Amino acid sequence: MPGARRTIKFPLTEIPVECPHCEARLIIATVMDKIIFGRRTCPTCRKQFIMDNNVPRIPDDSLKKPNTSVKPAKNARKSGKVR
Ligand SMILES: [Zn+2]
Repeated sequence: MPGARRTIKFPLTEIPVECPHCEARLIIATVMDKIIFGRRTCPTCRKQFIMDNNVPRIPDDSLKKPNTSVKPAKNARKSGKVR
C-alpha cells in the first residue's frame, strides 16, 4: 500500500545570493521552491534585505518608516454649530 508509511521531510532549497549591502555571499535555505518575498538579515553586516523572487534587494522602508495613511478628520465640521 503506497503512502501508508510516509516520511515527512521538508526538502530545503538553497539559494545562493549576494548581500545587497556588503556583497557577502550567502546561502538562503527555504522550504519553498523559491522565495517570492521574504525579509532576511545579513549575518555579515547585520543589515536587512528583502528577497524578491530570489533576488536580494535593499528594502526602501528601512530608512524611513512608511506613514500610516492619515485620514482627514470627518468630525471637524461638527465642532462648530451653525446657528
Ligand atoms: Zn551584508
